[in-house]
Amino acid sequence: MLSLEGVTVAFGRQVAVDGVDLDLDDGHVLAVLGPSGSGKSSLLRAVAGLEPLRSGTVRWDGADLAGTPTHKRGFALMFQDGQLFDHLTVARNVGYPLRLRGAGRTAVRRRVADLLDLVGLGGYGDRLPRTLSGGERQRVALARSLAAEPRLLLLDEPLSALDAELRVRLAADLRRILRESATTALLVTHDQEEAFAVADRLAVMREGAVVQQGTTAEVWAHPADPATALFLGYARVLTGDAAAAVLAAAGRPAAPAVAVRRSALAARRASTSPGTAEGEPGGLAASVVAVRATPDEVRLVVDVEGVGEVDAVGAPGWLPAPGDAVTLRVDAARLAVLP
Ligand code: ADP
Ligand code: MG
Repeated sequence: MLSLEGVTVAFGRQVAVDGVDLDLDDGHVLAVLGPSGSGKSSLLRAVAGLEPLRSGTVRWDGADLAGTPTHKRGFALMFQDGQLFDHLTVARNVGYPLRLRGAGRTAVRRRVADLLDLVGLGGYGDRLPRTLSGGERQRVALARSLAAEPRLLLLDEPLSALDAELRVRLAADLRRILRESATTALLVTHDQEEAFAVADRLAVMREGAVVQQGTTAEVWAHPADPATALFLGYARVLTGDAAAAVLAAAGRPAAPAVAVRRSALAARRASTSPGTAEGEPGGLAASVVAVRATPDEVRLVVDVEGVGEVDAVGAPGWLPAPGDAVTLRVDAARLAVLP
């Protein structure tokens, strides 16, 4: 297993990675999630042995890797742009690490075919990289990274260069491929969807430090602090009376701070008949401030009595106007009470 203790990387006076502790068990996939410039690539390079440590240790199965050069660590690295050899066919790209090790021609051919099947590119062996789409190129890069059976795969924003739809599809494939090949992987990314789709554990990084780690579900449901919640895609963090009002409407005990996803607040037209309004326990009365329609939902900013402005969603096709009265239903599963 991989174990980092107090890993610090500095460039001159600038500390890019600041005392990071992380453990990664065999067969698991850990995503380090953080905004651009938070030190993710520096951390990955330090694990690979490409960046010297200012202090701390990187261990594999308990053994300090300080004296082990990059090519002897048994790790593979994959980057955003794949870095394929453009003049080599797909098969020769994938087989490259095997030939480097002196594997026989038949063994290479068989293994390459298996790897191309694994990444969904069976039959692509004779193609040249420039004839492939961005997603296909990344699959080839992944197959090549897996060819040498690395004991650890290091992935630096492997899907970030792809368009949104492809990224989502390939993220699910990447998860399956890593599972099926029982690969231990450390992925760094700024994209929370990518992290959640691919990894089973998550470490949130900010300004060089890991501020939270746990399973993806734990981190998602219990962000450590307001900045983490906002980075994870929560729309707002409410405190004081606003937090109390929203939690009460959700049937949850009061707390000093609560992070609210946009989808936690479902808006619909306020009933004009008082009789019906009483039949809506827990609903929050609000008025519409701003409206934006998307194909999936209507995104609203609403002003809630005793809470202030919050984000909410409405059913598609319903277009309320600013000033309209609405009722909000609060979905407790889409709130996170902050410590
Ligand atoms: P991320 O991958 O999260 O975007 P990086 O690890 O690339 O973050 O960078 C973290 C910080 O370290 C940034 O402020 C960056 O400018 C700095 N940095 C990274 N590499 C170098 C380098 N080779 N020389 C000087 N500063 C660097
Ligand atoms: Mg980076």
